[in-house]
Amino acid sequence: MNIPKTSFPRVVIIGGGFAGLELAKRLGKQDLQVVMLDRHNYHTFQPLLYQVTTGGLEPDSIAYPIRKVLKNYPNSYFRLAEVEQVVPEKKIIKTDIGEITYDYLVIATGSRTNYFGNEAVKNNGMAMKTIPQSLNLRSLILENFEQALLTNNLDRRNALMNFVIVGAGPTGVELAGALAEIKKGILPKDYPDLDIRQMQINLVQGTDRILDAMSPKASKKAAEFLEKLGVNIWTGTIVTNYDGYTVATNADLSFETETLIWTAGVEGATLKGIDGKDLVARGNRVKVDEFNQVEGFKDIFAIGDVAYMPTEKYPHGHPMMAQPAIQQGKLLGSNLVKYIQGKPMKPFRYFDKGSMATVGRNKAVVDLPHWKFQGVFAWFVWIFVHLFALIGFKNKMVVFVNWLYNYIRFDREARLIIRPYKKKGREAAVKKEAEQ
Ligand SMILES: Cc1cc2nc3c(=O)[nH]c(=O)nc-3n(C[C@H](O)[C@H](O)[C@H](O)COP(=O)(O)OP(=O)(O)OC[C@H]3O[C@@H](n4cnc5c(N)ncnc54)[C@H](O)[C@@H]3O)c2cc1C
Repeated sequence: MNIPKTSFPRVVIIGGGFAGLELAKRLGKQDLQVVMLDRHNYHTFQPLLYQVTTGGLEPDSIAYPIRKVLKNYPNSYFRLAEVEQVVPEKKIIKTDIGEITYDYLVIATGSRTNYFGNEAVKNNGMAMKTIPQSLNLRSLILENFEQALLTNNLDRRNALMNFVIVGAGPTGVELAGALAEIKKGILPKDYPDLDIRQMQINLVQGTDRILDAMSPKASKKAAEFLEKLGVNIWTGTIVTNYDGYTVATNADLSFETETLIWTAGVEGATLKGIDGKDLVARGNRVKVDEFNQVEGFKDIFAIGDVAYMPTEKYPHGHPMMAQPAIQQGKLLGSNLVKYIQGKPMKPFRYFDKGSMATVGRNKAVVDLPHWKFQGVFAWFVWIFVHLFALIGFKNKMVVFVNWLYNYIRFDREARLIIRPYKKKGREAAVKKEAEQ
């Protein structure tokens, strides 16, 4: 990888997400050589992916170059690499660009979409975990309307204009709200020759309420907001199959749709070599102690979504959210230095700042530890928190200006099919229809 061997201990961080970047910023100032590996050369601000999907923001405004973060630290290196395996016995990491040795390894690989073993949904549904996936989805949604214009087959047109979102956590709720707003404000003007009222947005949730990790009040209000926007909510319903056209559920309910969006779960993005049965717990996360040290290893740590640290308050591990990842990255930044110097480390204690979700224009729900509120004020709080959390001054400015413009003009200008998405089976369906 062309990284010089120096007298400084080498810390390799796998993953430039919320946890990895926070850690790198702290270790970069120390007498250490820091090597960051990531399959992307940018950090993704995942909470705003749904806005890229729905044309509210350009992808660049929620991405930030990892090299730009590391450039201030002369002993820090970045390599664009897909990590394939860790060999702890030899202290080697195998990647698609070669191997690298480490003195200390930090796994900050985050999570990946969890289909709970449903291969049909995995093969035929759409995920929204990365910017490329969001762009695929943006193209598919717009291509659906272009196709709907062309077909005379009413069933197919309905399937093209029917959207099924599986999983009503913050991602599913925010996506459903954004789609409902497009339906109301943008699509009727873009497609005056289509009856947009036929468009259906179905939000399917396995448990008995949406936003089930938030307070019952937040769930209730979010459901009211969504229903007002015309979203159909199906709670207590589990999707069992999707063949690319028909969605089957465990209830007496099915949908015909060419777009199923799966936001129903994530699991730890473990790496080969650190994925043995005894190392991995619930949610495919790597077991760590209260210092984020991987069980059984003195020189390997895991932070963020991929780390499973059960505590009295969080018996199933911390929530897979940005705050625990940032806080663990921050603490390990000082703990690792202490550890190398033989000093005692400080145990991790999660400070829960609360959670929130927006449902659309002027509508959001916020649960703070001692205060829960919903509506317009919550929406302003949501905007402020997300602008503040974005990395990079330019990104904050661009997002702010975009939101202001969209708010005033009731618009979302990034509704562009830049990179057409080839949905499996669609060509065959179009050809068959043309022949009829
Ligand atoms: C759509 C969506 C919306 C969300 N909304 C919110 C929200 O509103 N609030 C909130 O708090 N949280 C939200 N989250 C969750 C939040 O984004 C995660 O909890 C957070 O990103 C975890 O940080 P992390 O550093 O552990 O992992 P990540 O930020 O996911 O970073 C992991 C990094 O590792 C890299 N990587 C992984 N495997 C490899 C490999 N094998 N080789 C090389 N590189 C690799 C990835 O490319 C990535 O850059 C959302 C997540 C999604 C998907």
